[in-house]
Amino acid sequence: MPIEPNARGYFGAFGGRFVPEVLVAALDELEAAMRAAFADPAFWREYRETLRDFVGRPSALYPARRFLGDAAETPLLFKREDTNHTGAHKINNTVGQALLAIRMGKRRLIAETGAGQHGVATATVGAKFGLPVDVYMGALDVERQALNVYIMQLLGATVHPVAGGTKTLKDATNEAFRVWAAQVEESFYVIGSVVGAHPYPFMVREFQKVIGEETRAQCLERYGRLPTDVIACVGGGSNAMGIFSPFIDDADVRLWGVEAAGEGLASGKTAAALGAGSVGVLHGSRSYLLQSDRGQVIETHSISAGLDYPGVGPEHAFLKDSGRATYVAVTDDEALAAFHDCARREGILPALESAHALAFAKKLAAERGPDALIVVNLSGRGDKDIAQIRALRERSEAAR
Ligand SMILES: *Cc1c(COP(=O)(O)O)cnc(C)c1O
Repeated sequence: MPIEPNARGYFGAFGGRFVPEVLVAALDELEAAMRAAFADPAFWREYRETLRDFVGRPSALYPARRFLGDAAETPLLFKREDTNHTGAHKINNTVGQALLAIRMGKRRLIAETGAGQHGVATATVGAKFGLPVDVYMGALDVERQALNVYIMQLLGATVHPVAGGTKTLKDATNEAFRVWAAQVEESFYVIGSVVGAHPYPFMVREFQKVIGEETRAQCLERYGRLPTDVIACVGGGSNAMGIFSPFIDDADVRLWGVEAAGEGLASGKTAAALGAGSVGVLHGSRSYLLQSDRGQVIETHSISAGLDYPGVGPEHAFLKDSGRATYVAVTDDEALAAFHDCARREGILPALESAHALAFAKKLAAERGPDALIVVNLSGRGDKDIAQIRALRERSEAAR
Protein backbone atom coordinates (compact mmCIF):
# COMPACT_ATOMS: atom_id res chain seq x y z
CA MET A 1 0.00 0.00 0.00
CA PRO A 2 1.25 3.51 -0.78
CA ILE A 3 2.20 5.47 2.33
CA GLU A 4 -0.53 7.49 4.09
CA PRO A 5 0.47 10.72 5.77
CA ASN A 6 -0.69 11.04 9.40
CA ALA A 7 -3.71 13.16 10.40
CA ARG A 8 -1.55 16.32 10.44
CA GLY A 9 -0.20 15.58 6.99
CA TYR A 10 3.24 14.26 7.94
CA PHE A 11 5.26 11.57 6.23
CA GLY A 12 7.50 10.78 9.20
CA ALA A 13 9.10 14.10 10.11
CA PHE A 14 8.22 15.77 6.79
CA GLY A 15 5.21 17.60 5.38
CA GLY A 16 2.61 19.33 7.51
CA ARG A 17 0.99 22.69 7.01
CA PHE A 18 3.00 25.86 7.43
CA VAL A 19 0.55 28.45 6.12
CA PRO A 20 -1.08 31.70 7.25
CA GLU A 21 -4.25 31.37 9.31
CA VAL A 22 -6.54 32.39 6.41
CA LEU A 23 -5.56 29.32 4.42
CA VAL A 24 -6.12 26.72 7.15
CA ALA A 25 -9.89 26.64 6.61
CA ALA A 26 -9.39 26.44 2.83
CA LEU A 27 -7.03 23.47 3.22
CA ASP A 28 -9.49 21.80 5.61
CA GLU A 29 -12.29 22.27 3.08
CA LEU A 30 -10.06 20.89 0.31
CA GLU A 31 -9.06 17.87 2.39
CA ALA A 32 -12.66 17.00 3.26
CA ALA A 33 -13.74 17.30 -0.39
CA MET A 34 -10.74 15.24 -1.51
CA ARG A 35 -11.51 12.44 0.99
CA ALA A 36 -15.14 12.33 -0.14
CA ALA A 37 -14.15 12.29 -3.82
CA PHE A 38 -11.52 9.58 -3.28
CA ALA A 39 -14.18 7.40 -1.60
CA ASP A 40 -16.58 7.87 -4.52
CA PRO A 41 -16.20 5.39 -7.42
CA ALA A 42 -18.01 7.84 -9.74
CA PHE A 43 -15.20 10.38 -9.23
CA TRP A 44 -12.50 7.88 -10.21
CA ARG A 45 -14.59 6.65 -13.14
CA GLU A 46 -14.72 10.16 -14.62
CA TYR A 47 -11.00 10.66 -13.92
CA ARG A 48 -10.10 7.39 -15.66
CA GLU A 49 -12.36 8.08 -18.62
CA THR A 50 -10.83 11.54 -19.06
CA LEU A 51 -7.33 10.07 -18.93
CA ARG A 52 -8.33 7.50 -21.54
CA ASP A 53 -10.17 9.79 -23.97
CA PHE A 54 -8.42 13.14 -23.52
CA VAL A 55 -4.90 12.29 -22.29
CA GLY A 56 -4.50 9.05 -24.26
CA ARG A 57 -3.77 6.59 -21.44
CA PRO A 58 -2.59 3.99 -20.80
CA SER A 59 0.83 5.12 -22.00
CA ALA A 60 3.10 2.45 -23.46
CA LEU A 61 5.87 0.60 -21.65
CA TYR A 62 8.48 0.63 -24.39
CA PRO A 63 11.49 -1.71 -24.67
CA ALA A 64 14.41 0.61 -25.44
CA ARG A 65 16.72 -1.87 -27.17
CA ARG A 66 19.36 0.51 -28.53
CA PHE A 67 19.71 3.31 -25.96
CA LEU A 68 22.42 1.55 -23.92
CA GLY A 69 24.49 0.57 -26.95
CA ASP A 70 24.70 -2.64 -28.96
CA ALA A 71 26.79 -4.56 -26.42
CA ALA A 72 24.44 -3.87 -23.50
CA GLU A 73 22.75 -6.90 -21.94
CA THR A 74 20.44 -5.26 -19.41
CA PRO A 75 16.79 -4.97 -20.48
CA LEU A 76 15.58 -1.38 -20.29
CA LEU A 77 12.00 -0.11 -20.51
CA PHE A 78 10.68 3.46 -20.90
CA LYS A 79 7.33 4.42 -19.39
CA ARG A 80 6.10 6.77 -22.11
CA GLU A 81 4.59 9.77 -20.28
CA ASP A 82 5.96 11.82 -23.20
CA THR A 83 3.10 10.53 -25.37
CA ASN A 84 0.40 12.04 -23.14
CA HIS A 85 -1.64 14.97 -24.48
CA THR A 86 0.44 18.12 -23.81
CA GLY A 87 3.59 15.99 -23.73
CA ALA A 88 4.23 15.14 -20.08
CA HIS A 89 2.89 13.59 -16.90
CA LYS A 90 1.60 16.90 -15.49
CA ILE A 91 -1.78 16.54 -17.21
CA ASN A 92 -2.65 13.46 -15.05
CA ASN A 93 -2.66 15.74 -12.02
CA THR A 94 -4.41 18.78 -13.51
CA VAL A 95 -7.25 16.57 -14.79
CA GLY A 96 -7.73 15.23 -11.25
CA GLN A 97 -7.63 18.65 -9.58
CA ALA A 98 -9.99 20.20 -12.17
CA LEU A 99 -12.54 17.43 -11.56
CA LEU A 100 -12.22 18.04 -7.83
CA ALA A 101 -12.66 21.80 -8.31
CA ILE A 102 -15.88 21.19 -10.27
CA ARG A 103 -17.12 18.82 -7.55
CA MET A 104 -16.43 21.52 -4.95
CA GLY A 105 -18.38 24.12 -6.95
CA LYS A 106 -15.30 26.31 -7.53
CA ARG A 107 -15.58 28.53 -10.59
CA ARG A 108 -11.95 29.45 -11.36
CA LEU A 109 -8.54 27.83 -11.32
CA ILE A 110 -5.39 29.52 -10.02
CA ALA A 111 -1.91 28.14 -10.73
CA GLU A 112 1.68 29.22 -10.46
CA THR A 113 4.27 28.09 -12.95
CA GLY A 114 8.01 28.39 -13.44
CA ALA A 115 8.95 26.83 -16.74
CA GLY A 116 5.34 27.09 -17.88
CA GLN A 117 4.64 23.37 -18.17
CA HIS A 118 2.23 23.25 -15.23
CA GLY A 119 0.63 26.47 -16.46
CA VAL A 120 0.00 24.87 -19.85
CA ALA A 121 -1.41 21.70 -18.24
CA THR A 122 -3.75 23.81 -16.08
CA ALA A 123 -4.80 26.07 -18.98
CA THR A 124 -5.55 22.91 -20.97
CA VAL A 125 -7.98 21.46 -18.42
CA GLY A 126 -9.45 24.93 -17.82
CA ALA A 127 -10.34 25.11 -21.51
CA LYS A 128 -11.63 21.55 -21.59
CA PHE A 129 -13.89 21.94 -18.54
CA GLY A 130 -14.88 25.57 -19.12
CA LEU A 131 -13.15 27.03 -16.05
CA PRO A 132 -11.33 30.40 -16.30
CA VAL A 133 -7.63 30.07 -15.41
CA ASP A 134 -5.29 32.65 -13.86
CA VAL A 135 -1.61 31.71 -14.05
CA TYR A 136 1.00 33.53 -11.92
CA MET A 137 4.49 33.55 -13.32
CA GLY A 138 7.68 35.41 -12.41
CA ALA A 139 8.29 38.30 -14.83
CA LEU A 140 11.69 36.87 -15.75
CA ASP A 141 10.14 33.47 -16.47
CA VAL A 142 7.46 35.15 -18.64
CA GLU A 143 10.33 36.46 -20.79
CA ARG A 144 12.30 33.21 -20.79
CA GLN A 145 9.30 30.98 -21.53
CA ALA A 146 7.59 33.13 -24.15
CA LEU A 147 6.31 30.15 -26.13
CA ASN A 148 4.54 28.56 -23.15
CA VAL A 149 3.06 31.94 -22.20
CA TYR A 150 1.63 32.23 -25.72
CA ILE A 151 0.26 28.67 -25.58
CA MET A 152 -1.49 29.41 -22.27
CA GLN A 153 -3.03 32.51 -23.84
CA LEU A 154 -4.18 30.56 -26.90
CA LEU A 155 -5.88 28.18 -24.47
CA GLY A 156 -7.73 31.14 -22.98
CA ALA A 157 -5.79 31.53 -19.71
CA THR A 158 -4.71 34.87 -18.25
CA VAL A 159 -0.99 35.02 -17.44
CA HIS A 160 -0.01 37.45 -14.67
CA PRO A 161 3.68 38.40 -14.62
CA VAL A 162 4.93 38.80 -11.01
CA ALA A 163 7.49 41.59 -10.78
CA GLY A 164 8.61 41.24 -7.14
CA GLY A 165 11.70 39.52 -5.72
CA THR A 166 13.80 37.46 -8.14
CA LYS A 167 10.90 37.48 -10.66
CA THR A 168 10.87 33.67 -10.72
CA LEU A 169 8.83 30.71 -9.43
CA LYS A 170 9.33 31.49 -5.74
CA ASP A 171 7.72 34.91 -6.14
CA ALA A 172 4.97 33.58 -8.41
CA THR A 173 4.09 31.00 -5.72
CA ASN A 174 3.86 33.67 -3.02
CA GLU A 175 1.60 35.79 -5.24
CA ALA A 176 -0.64 32.84 -6.13
CA PHE A 177 -1.01 32.02 -2.41
CA ARG A 178 -1.92 35.64 -1.70
CA VAL A 179 -4.55 35.71 -4.46
CA TRP A 180 -5.96 32.37 -3.32
CA ALA A 181 -6.30 33.62 0.26
CA ALA A 182 -8.26 36.63 -1.04
CA GLN A 183 -10.70 34.54 -3.10
CA VAL A 184 -10.87 31.03 -1.58
CA GLU A 185 -14.65 30.97 -1.92
CA GLU A 186 -14.66 30.82 -5.71
CA SER A 187 -11.13 29.67 -6.58
CA PHE A 188 -9.32 26.35 -6.60
CA TYR A 189 -5.53 26.47 -6.34
CA VAL A 190 -3.98 23.85 -8.63
CA ILE A 191 -0.48 22.85 -7.45
CA GLY A 192 1.77 21.16 -10.01
CA SER A 193 3.91 18.78 -7.95
CA VAL A 194 3.94 16.79 -4.70
CA VAL A 195 4.82 19.94 -2.74
CA GLY A 196 2.99 22.56 -0.69
CA ALA A 197 0.89 22.23 2.45
CA HIS A 198 -1.10 19.10 3.31
CA PRO A 199 -3.12 17.66 1.55
CA TYR A 200 -1.39 18.69 -1.72
CA PRO A 201 1.62 16.30 -1.62
CA PHE A 202 -0.68 13.36 -0.92
CA MET A 203 -3.39 14.46 -3.37
CA VAL A 204 -1.02 15.09 -6.29
CA ARG A 205 0.62 11.71 -5.70
CA GLU A 206 -2.78 9.99 -5.82
CA PHE A 207 -3.40 11.64 -9.21
CA GLN A 208 0.03 10.58 -10.52
CA LYS A 209 -0.07 7.05 -9.10
CA VAL A 210 -1.67 5.88 -12.35
CA ILE A 211 1.85 5.90 -13.88
CA GLY A 212 3.12 3.26 -11.46
CA GLU A 213 -0.10 1.24 -11.50
CA GLU A 214 0.09 0.91 -15.27
CA THR A 215 3.82 0.17 -15.19
CA ARG A 216 3.37 -2.59 -12.60
CA ALA A 217 0.53 -4.26 -14.53
CA GLN A 218 2.28 -3.92 -17.92
CA CYS A 219 5.50 -5.38 -16.53
CA LEU A 220 3.76 -8.38 -14.95
CA GLU A 221 1.72 -9.01 -18.07
CA ARG A 222 4.58 -8.77 -20.53
CA TYR A 223 7.57 -10.05 -18.54
CA GLY A 224 5.89 -12.12 -15.84
CA ARG A 225 7.75 -10.26 -13.12
CA LEU A 226 8.27 -6.88 -11.51
CA PRO A 227 11.11 -4.57 -12.52
CA THR A 228 14.31 -4.81 -10.49
CA ASP A 229 14.83 -1.04 -10.64
CA VAL A 230 12.58 1.96 -11.22
CA ILE A 231 14.20 5.30 -12.08
CA ALA A 232 12.61 8.77 -12.26
CA CYS A 233 13.85 12.35 -12.27
CA VAL A 234 12.97 14.53 -9.27
CA GLY A 235 12.13 18.21 -9.42
CA GLY A 236 9.30 18.67 -6.94
CA GLY A 237 8.93 14.92 -7.25
CA SER A 238 5.52 14.19 -8.78
CA ASN A 239 6.44 11.93 -11.69
CA ALA A 240 8.76 10.01 -9.37
CA MET A 241 6.15 9.59 -6.60
CA GLY A 242 3.65 8.58 -9.26
CA ILE A 243 5.76 5.73 -10.54
CA PHE A 244 7.28 4.76 -7.14
CA SER A 245 4.08 4.62 -5.10
CA PRO A 246 2.59 1.29 -6.28
CA PHE A 247 6.00 -0.40 -5.75
CA ILE A 248 6.54 0.76 -2.15
CA ASP A 249 5.69 -2.65 -0.65
CA ASP A 250 7.72 -4.59 -3.23
CA ALA A 251 10.93 -4.66 -1.22
CA ASP A 252 12.91 -6.19 -4.11
CA VAL A 253 12.14 -3.31 -6.44
CA ARG A 254 14.82 -0.66 -6.02
CA LEU A 255 13.59 2.91 -6.37
CA TRP A 256 15.95 5.60 -7.70
CA GLY A 257 15.23 9.34 -7.70
CA VAL A 258 17.50 11.43 -9.92
CA GLU A 259 18.00 15.07 -9.05
CA ALA A 260 19.64 17.77 -11.15
CA ALA A 261 23.24 18.24 -9.99
CA GLY A 262 23.56 21.21 -12.37
CA GLU A 263 27.28 21.91 -12.60
CA GLY A 264 27.94 19.55 -9.65
CA LEU A 265 26.69 19.04 -6.09
CA ALA A 266 29.57 21.02 -4.60
CA SER A 267 29.58 23.75 -7.28
CA GLY A 268 26.89 25.90 -5.69
CA LYS A 269 25.17 25.77 -9.09
CA THR A 270 22.82 22.88 -8.44
CA ALA A 271 19.15 22.04 -7.91
CA ALA A 272 19.65 18.85 -5.87
CA ALA A 273 17.61 19.54 -2.71
CA LEU A 274 18.06 16.03 -1.29
CA GLY A 275 21.68 15.70 -2.38
CA ALA A 276 22.98 19.11 -1.32
CA GLY A 277 20.24 20.65 0.85
CA SER A 278 19.13 20.57 4.48
CA VAL A 279 15.81 20.36 6.33
CA GLY A 280 13.62 23.46 6.47
CA VAL A 281 10.24 24.88 5.49
CA LEU A 282 9.35 25.98 1.95
CA HIS A 283 5.97 26.69 0.36
CA GLY A 284 3.96 25.33 3.25
CA SER A 285 5.71 22.12 4.21
CA ARG A 286 8.80 20.75 5.92
CA SER A 287 11.30 18.96 3.71
CA TYR A 288 14.79 19.24 2.31
CA LEU A 289 15.65 22.44 0.51
CA LEU A 290 18.63 24.41 -0.76
CA GLN A 291 19.20 27.15 1.79
CA SER A 292 22.02 29.19 3.26
CA ASP A 293 23.25 28.78 6.87
CA ARG A 294 20.86 31.58 7.76
CA GLY A 295 17.84 29.87 6.20
CA GLN A 296 17.66 31.94 3.01
CA VAL A 297 16.56 29.96 -0.05
CA ILE A 298 19.49 29.65 -2.44
CA GLU A 299 19.17 30.36 -6.15
CA THR A 300 19.26 27.05 -8.00
CA HIS A 301 20.71 26.01 -11.31
CA SER A 302 19.85 23.23 -13.76
CA ILE A 303 19.93 22.95 -17.54
CA SER A 304 16.35 21.73 -17.17
CA ALA A 305 13.76 24.33 -16.17
CA GLY A 306 11.42 21.69 -14.72
CA LEU A 307 14.04 20.49 -12.21
CA ASP A 308 15.19 23.99 -11.30
CA TYR A 309 13.36 24.17 -7.95
CA PRO A 310 15.01 24.65 -4.51
CA GLY A 311 12.73 22.22 -2.66
CA VAL A 312 11.42 18.68 -2.95
CA GLY A 313 8.20 16.97 -1.87
CA PRO A 314 8.05 15.78 1.77
CA GLU A 315 7.38 12.14 0.90
CA HIS A 316 10.72 12.00 -0.93
CA ALA A 317 12.44 13.36 2.20
CA PHE A 318 10.80 10.53 4.12
CA LEU A 319 11.78 7.88 1.55
CA LYS A 320 15.36 9.17 1.59
CA ASP A 321 15.68 9.09 5.38
CA SER A 322 13.95 5.69 5.66
CA GLY A 323 16.20 4.28 2.93
CA ARG A 324 13.29 2.95 0.84
CA ALA A 325 14.39 5.04 -2.13
CA THR A 326 17.88 6.14 -3.12
CA TYR A 327 18.58 9.61 -4.48
CA VAL A 328 21.39 10.37 -6.87
CA ALA A 329 22.26 13.40 -8.99
CA VAL A 330 23.20 13.85 -12.64
CA THR A 331 24.99 16.88 -14.11
CA ASP A 332 23.86 19.12 -16.97
CA ASP A 333 26.47 17.57 -19.28
CA GLU A 334 25.48 13.98 -18.46
CA ALA A 335 21.81 14.79 -19.07
CA LEU A 336 22.61 16.45 -22.40
CA ALA A 337 24.62 13.41 -23.53
CA ALA A 338 21.71 11.12 -22.60
CA PHE A 339 19.33 13.40 -24.55
CA HIS A 340 21.42 12.90 -27.70
CA ASP A 341 21.76 9.12 -27.19
CA CYS A 342 18.01 8.79 -26.80
CA ALA A 343 17.31 10.91 -29.89
CA ARG A 344 19.79 9.09 -32.13
CA ARG A 345 19.40 5.55 -30.83
CA GLU A 346 15.69 5.36 -29.99
CA GLY A 347 14.07 8.01 -32.19
CA ILE A 348 12.68 9.78 -29.14
CA LEU A 349 13.48 13.37 -28.11
CA PRO A 350 13.13 13.25 -24.31
CA ALA A 351 12.50 16.27 -22.09
CA LEU A 352 15.74 17.49 -20.48
CA GLU A 353 14.18 16.57 -17.11
CA SER A 354 13.68 12.97 -18.26
CA ALA A 355 17.20 12.94 -19.74
CA HIS A 356 18.51 13.08 -16.15
CA ALA A 357 16.77 9.77 -15.39
CA LEU A 358 18.12 8.33 -18.66
CA ALA A 359 21.68 9.34 -17.80
CA PHE A 360 21.47 7.50 -14.49
CA ALA A 361 19.94 4.44 -16.20
CA LYS A 362 23.12 4.22 -18.27
CA LYS A 363 25.28 4.17 -15.14
CA LEU A 364 23.07 1.66 -13.34
CA ALA A 365 22.80 -0.70 -16.32
CA ALA A 366 26.60 -0.87 -16.46
CA GLU A 367 26.52 -2.39 -12.94
CA ARG A 368 23.62 -4.76 -13.57
CA GLY A 369 23.66 -8.00 -15.57
CA PRO A 370 21.17 -9.47 -18.01
CA ASP A 371 18.82 -10.53 -15.18
CA ALA A 372 17.90 -6.99 -14.25
CA LEU A 373 14.81 -5.25 -15.63
CA ILE A 374 15.15 -1.49 -15.44
CA VAL A 375 12.23 0.91 -15.94
CA VAL A 376 12.83 4.61 -16.59
CA ASN A 377 9.96 7.06 -16.33
CA LEU A 378 10.18 9.16 -19.49
CA SER A 379 8.30 12.05 -17.86
CA GLY A 380 7.96 14.21 -20.98
CA ARG A 381 8.93 14.98 -24.54
CA GLY A 382 11.73 17.30 -25.54
CA ASP A 383 10.04 19.59 -28.06
CA LYS A 384 9.90 22.39 -25.47
CA ASP A 385 13.69 22.18 -25.03
CA ILE A 386 14.79 22.23 -28.68
CA ALA A 387 15.58 25.96 -28.93
CA GLN A 388 17.69 25.74 -25.76
CA ILE A 389 19.57 22.68 -26.99
CA ARG A 390 20.21 24.33 -30.32
CA ALA A 391 21.63 27.41 -28.62
CA LEU A 392 23.87 25.27 -26.37
CA ARG A 393 25.23 23.35 -29.35
CA GLU A 394 25.87 26.49 -31.37
CA ARG A 395 27.69 28.04 -28.43
CA SER A 396 29.88 24.98 -27.86
CA GLU A 397 30.68 24.75 -31.59
CA ALA A 398 31.63 28.41 -31.64
CA ALA A 399 33.95 27.83 -28.68
CA ARG A 400 35.74 25.00 -30.43
C1 LIG B 1 7.66 19.48 -14.48
C2 LIG B 1 8.42 18.35 -15.05
C3 LIG B 1 9.26 17.53 -14.27
C4 LIG B 1 9.55 17.81 -12.83
O1 LIG B 1 8.44 17.76 -11.97
P1 LIG B 1 8.19 16.57 -10.95
O2 LIG B 1 7.11 17.07 -10.08
O3 LIG B 1 9.47 16.32 -10.21
O4 LIG B 1 7.79 15.38 -11.75
C5 LIG B 1 9.85 16.44 -14.86
N1 LIG B 1 9.69 16.16 -16.17
C6 LIG B 1 8.90 16.93 -16.97
C7 LIG B 1 8.77 16.57 -18.41
C8 LIG B 1 8.24 18.04 -16.44
O5 LIG B 1 7.47 18.81 -17.24
